[in-house]
Amino acid sequence: MKQERRLVTELPGPASRALAARRKAAVSGAVSVGNEVYIERGEGAILVDADGNQHIDFGAGIAVASVGHAAPAVVAAVAEQAARFEHTCFMVTPYDGYVEVCEQLNRLTPGDHAKRTALFNSGAEAVENAVKVARAYTGRKAVVAFDHAYHGRTNMTMALTAKVQPYKDGFGPFAPEVYRVPMAYPYRWPTGPERCAEEAFAEFASRVHVQVGEQHVAAVIVEPIQGEGGFIVPAPGFLKMVADWCTEHGVVFIADEVQTGFCRTGDWFASSHEGVVPDVVTTAKALGGGMPLAAVTGRAEIMDAPVVGGLGGTYGGNPVSCAAALAAISTMESEDLAGRALRVGEQVTARLATLAQVYPQIGEVRGRGAMLAMELVVPDGSKRPDAALAKAVVAGCARRGVVMLSCGTYGNVIRMLPPLVIEASLVEDAMDVLGEALAEALG
Ligand SMILES: *Cc1c(COP(=O)(O)O)cnc(C)c1O
Repeated sequence: MKQERRLVTELPGPASRALAARRKAAVSGAVSVGNEVYIERGEGAILVDADGNQHIDFGAGIAVASVGHAAPAVVAAVAEQAARFEHTCFMVTPYDGYVEVCEQLNRLTPGDHAKRTALFNSGAEAVENAVKVARAYTGRKAVVAFDHAYHGRTNMTMALTAKVQPYKDGFGPFAPEVYRVPMAYPYRWPTGPERCAEEAFAEFASRVHVQVGEQHVAAVIVEPIQGEGGFIVPAPGFLKMVADWCTEHGVVFIADEVQTGFCRTGDWFASSHEGVVPDVVTTAKALGGGMPLAAVTGRAEIMDAPVVGGLGGTYGGNPVSCAAALAAISTMESEDLAGRALRVGEQVTARLATLAQVYPQIGEVRGRGAMLAMELVVPDGSKRPDAALAKAVVAGCARRGVVMLSCGTYGNVIRMLPPLVIEASLVEDAMDVLGEALAEALG
């Protein structure tokens, strides 16, 4: 398939519109759909819809398809494993793929200490289990999470997630013993970005001391770059201060690398950019190369703390998902996807910087590697979020055949998460489209 954007109908086309009518009659209205083009196949960074239109994918299924859609190595590994067996349940009769994924995660995650891993199905499930492990290890109950955090949609992870709309609205009561502290968000820090790390850390330490008590804290959980909350890169040094505080107080430092992991930010894991070695790392999304797989990797003594049989699940570490993950990891290494993420990042950043010179509505361009975003604001110096503009720009991109995602606590951030294998010509085309959509939205 030629890696190019190609429109043969208006978007969405008639076949997608017919499917949309069926969706409304069959699928829960609580499941939202951003860009209602129904996908028939994908390859690399291109998605082909039911009408034959080719879209450039700048969402990668929310940072999942890093190795590209239908990556040949992943497709072959999935087919080969499915033909041998699809499922036994690792807790009943084990198999080598599970063990090998754990070995790879122990090797690739930051730090050279002894590690152990357990496998699950989704990012939320990994976070739930990271909290279970931290509580079993410390014998403590409290978990500290940050403003703008996103950790999932299950009961514990809803409690950890900051934003009520749409993730928590009407779904309480939430899990207890979760405490929230400010994030070192440089763009919106009241006294400015220079003092953000120190002041945010002081606020963190003081609130935990006064409102929780260090001796009650089992874990601090943080995304090394916040995803759904707005691609917020914590002020430099902040994560290290929090991690050091955790060490000092016997608290488990959990890095939620579900979105940032596996080369997305130009390194295997985003914690490494800040020189942080987490006690526990949660992964999912890109790990499975498109198949559902999640993991908790941590210090051996922490991961071995729960009772035997305390961790598991019917499908966790499914053999087909493990085969896909091993193929994805080997592709990331052989194709140097971390290096490619940096190159995609430079290309996108240069284009966004040019747009930011033209449009004062682009309040900030930020991110790392191929995890980049622009925050849109009312251009009157107030930094007032402009969610309507973000929505209009994403819709304008969709009409032109580029899948773009918004995010952010205020819904005013447009994020870019292309497959890391994307060709430079597609990045250029998608950035041209983004410029057109911005110009159109601002009329
Ligand atoms: C997506 C995400 C989750 C939840 O993962 P699911 O697979 O959707 O359950 C948790 N944490 C972060 C940082 C995420 O981006």
